[in-house]
Amino acid sequence: MKTIGLIGGMSWESTTEYYKIINQTIKQELGGLHSAKCLMYSVDFQEIEECQASGDWNKSGQILAKAAASLEKAGADFIVICTNTMHKVIDIIKNSIHIPILHIAEVTAQALLSDGIVTVALLGTKYTMEQDFYKNRLIANHINVIIPDEGDRTIINNIIYDELCLGKINPESKMQFLAIIEKLRQQKAQAIILGCTEIGLLVHQADTTIPLYDTSYIHAHSAAMQALKNRWQEA
Ligand code: GLU
Repeated sequence: MKTIGLIGGMSWESTTEYYKIINQTIKQELGGLHSAKCLMYSVDFQEIEECQASGDWNKSGQILAKAAASLEKAGADFIVICTNTMHKVIDIIKNSIHIPILHIAEVTAQALLSDGIVTVALLGTKYTMEQDFYKNRLIANHINVIIPDEGDRTIINNIIYDELCLGKINPESKMQFLAIIEKLRQQKAQAIILGCTEIGLLVHQADTTIPLYDTSYIHAHSAAMQALKNRWQEA
């Protein structure tokens, strides 16, 4: 089994889910007392969020690059960045290490394609929804991406940073999410990407009939499966 290097803490509320899903997957695959070989470098999210808000992506990239280099030195075979948003700085991180990174949008694209989904709505932070770094990875896989309108993007972004990243699960916010999801279905989305690792803490598949693709589950599950492969496979 390969050793997974997790860059976590963004936020830790969702990183705990990664740890659980990775171990559950290994247990499911290998049985017995098997559990995942993994290392985690958990950052101080306040520092990262301040970089995001001030637009200093280079500084946040350097912080995560240092984390990745530490994980490599400690014996990680590959890196998992436990957030969608911070894949914006994946190139800075890549430059600091010699081991591969399992890209969250790539494994999500593969999950969508294997279910025959070609038009999807993307929910996430304003950075993930509005900028190209994430959407382009989906588009490169021939997936059409719809995003919510500006007002709904603000609602989603505020719920992520003001509630979910602080561990607050608010039923009213869940209703707001479900209303936005319904609008996106009417715009012909075949499925919804929960493209922020905390959204799955609030909205669950049982809440709606439109298929939800929870990136924290997909990413963590793929990481565990990757750890069991003989050779590195991107997705
Ligand atoms: N965990 C979130 C994501 O998946 C947001 C926190 C962050 O800005 O990294 O994008």
